[in-house]
Amino acid sequence: MDKLFERAIEEIRRGRRFLVISHVNPEGDAVGSLLGLALALKEAGKDVVPYLEDQVPELLGFLPGSEQVAHSLENEEPFDATFAVDCGQLERLGRGFAGFSGHGVLINIDHHKTNDHFGDINIVVPEASAAGEIVFDLLREAGLKITPEVAVNLYVAIHTDTGSFRYSSSTPEAFRKAGELVRLGADPWKIASRVYENHPLKRFRLLSEALSTLEMTDEGKIAVLTITQDMLKRVNGTKDLVDGFVNYARAVEGVAVGVLLRECGKDDYKISLRAKGDVDVSKIAEKFGGGGHPHAAGFNIKGSLEEVKEKIVGELKEAIEGGVQ
Ligand code: 5GP
Ligand code: MN
Repeated sequence: MDKLFERAIEEIRRGRRFLVISHVNPEGDAVGSLLGLALALKEAGKDVVPYLEDQVPELLGFLPGSEQVAHSLENEEPFDATFAVDCGQLERLGRGFAGFSGHGVLINIDHHKTNDHFGDINIVVPEASAAGEIVFDLLREAGLKITPEVAVNLYVAIHTDTGSFRYSSSTPEAFRKAGELVRLGADPWKIASRVYENHPLKRFRLLSEALSTLEMTDEGKIAVLTITQDMLKRVNGTKDLVDGFVNYARAVEGVAVGVLLRECGKDDYKISLRAKGDVDVSKIAEKFGGGGHPHAAGFNIKGSLEEVKEKIVGELKEAIEGGVQ
């Protein structure tokens, strides 16, 4: 068995009390991997706190265990170990965790190639389509039970991070694990209807506003969508409604990189990048202090909308012209 897995399993055997945590702005892989691991540890008789700085997105509220997610660590006793899943950088775990000293051995389970190995034990597998795949392997190696509730969570992790098995990360291994999870109790249609066919109406109202901002530059190779705070206010919505919008920018014929700029505050933007061709957008995100995968990456940036747009489009143009990098 892999040495790092052995070390993590040793911590599971030895420990009694665990914290399981993932990144801010959590999506399917973050929440699914977190809850899959937390529920499996609980099933094994451990004392487990699943924690997220942000709320679980409404669409993922059906995931078994999501009601158990804590959002404060203030009154928590120390833990024997903490599992951070699907998170490439310590800061992305949020402020609440940064100010918490009782985390014990920090075990970093991730699939971002930009992961900076912030843990005491770092299980970073860039070939994995989702952190959920690594959690699946860990549970199997540790001999922990994959109950139907765990299966639903890990299936959602893999399904969402592969873009419903469309992305290049959809390896035979990803399909095999998803298949096993279906056998163990994950129901594909029930899950798909909850995750993909259950959007609040306000998401479509927001989408229609977002699409009206679509700008094409660099001879149609870059497509940019913008979401402002005003737009979110108009639909009385929160930032998780925006999840997936950037894919519309990438989906335009001829586009090499789709960009979404979401205003978080005054002169403060969250950027999502999605590539279709050879451009590795994780490298561009890293230049701006963020990270991600070759085809999907993100970062935060300060400045006015025009300044931010110009900077990003400038970098992208250079990368597209240069072939890669
Ligand atoms: P999204 O655009 O959906 O927020 O993120 C796309 C990918 O980039 C995800 O794998 C996500 O984890 C990563 N990512 C997004 N924002 C950041 C960021 O600020 N820092 C880092 N390191 N990764 C990010
Ligand atoms: Mn992921």
